[in-house]
Amino acid sequence: MPDEETAPLAGKLAGLTSSAIRDLLKLTAAPDVISLAGGLPDAALMPGPRIAAAAESALHSPAVLQYTESPGWGPLRDVLAGRESARLGRPVGVGEVFVTHGSQQALSLLAEVLLDPGALVVVEDPAYIGALQVFRAAGAQVVAVPLDSEGMRVDLLEELIAAGRRPAVVHTVSNFHNPGGVTMSPRRRRALAAAAEKHRFWVIEDDPYGELWFDRPTPEPVATYSPAVIRLSSASKILAPTLRVGWMVAPKRVCRAVELLKQGADLCGSALTQQIATELLADTEWLGGHIDTVRRVYAARATALVDAVTDEFGDRLRCSSASGGMFVWAEFTDGTDTTELLPRALDTGVAFVPGQAFAVATPYSHAMRMCFTTAAPEVLGEAVTRLARAVAQAPVA
Ligand code: PMP
Repeated sequence: MPDEETAPLAGKLAGLTSSAIRDLLKLTAAPDVISLAGGLPDAALMPGPRIAAAAESALHSPAVLQYTESPGWGPLRDVLAGRESARLGRPVGVGEVFVTHGSQQALSLLAEVLLDPGALVVVEDPAYIGALQVFRAAGAQVVAVPLDSEGMRVDLLEELIAAGRRPAVVHTVSNFHNPGGVTMSPRRRRALAAAAEKHRFWVIEDDPYGELWFDRPTPEPVATYSPAVIRLSSASKILAPTLRVGWMVAPKRVCRAVELLKQGADLCGSALTQQIATELLADTEWLGGHIDTVRRVYAARATALVDAVTDEFGDRLRCSSASGGMFVWAEFTDGTDTTELLPRALDTGVAFVPGQAFAVATPYSHAMRMCFTTAAPEVLGEAVTRLARAVAQAPVA
């Protein structure tokens, strides 16, 4: 029997499509292409020897081979509660901390816990693709509120609510947005938290990049201002994604509901990687030095990329301020269409992600996301030279 004639998949998956851009991006792995498309932290900066030593010592105890508690290994939750208490400026109890398989799993479990089918979810435009995938797969109606240089346009969210479209959940990447590069201003943070309390919706503050600031620390988390804000963070960008250690700080009743679903999803995380993460996160002196190194290296790369773009394109290609995180969002001011540009750019040996890949309501056809984390400054300069060559070949709209 041909595969298509077997039983159908769930109807709620009908809205999920694979994009042509994703298919094109598979070509970015070619060895002669400098890829600014990937969105990966630099593996060369990850603390491999430290991780190996922590694994070795964890494996001396057979308990590490066992299942662990669904909300996370106790000592890891203790360490995270300490870190989050400092970040949020209030005592965070262990019962409010829940460890997930990367923060991506927190998004996925929260979608099940907080959303009924057809519920309204607000995301930022451009949006983090991983959040779009989760909310669409959950059968939510996804509505977008644009970003500007201060982050989410909370005034437009208020307008949406005034028009009778109250969301169940608002998702925000408050620091060094993926893909938009921006950080939400303190006044927007307060306004978003106040709106969540007034209109009784949840905010998911998705913050994997907050520690990667270059010149000055990020503002207080949105979660500082209200218990309606669930805060997600992750070890992926500060230690290594392979640990698959993310965490959530949420009211206890949310954590209890997430626990029931986590048991259905995977029973528990890995005791081994959680013990490794515990040892590294608890060693605050070493961790501080390690994160400082990552910041310094990424800052030099971000500056090299933005300087090269400015030298090569002047005002024709405007970049977001590269003040932290992993991405620069750049917009052509002369009508260059980035989806059309991508095949030519691949021919000249450079890759980026066209804005259209992150678009929800606004097409972002003149925008692109460039990731600066994995290439040395001179390689980033060469990438921009190649980009300029591709643009010179492209017809201007
Ligand atoms: N949220 C955002 C905004 C991200 O960019 C990412 C990683 N690309 C994640 C969540 C998921 O990260 P992880 O599951 O590795 O913690």
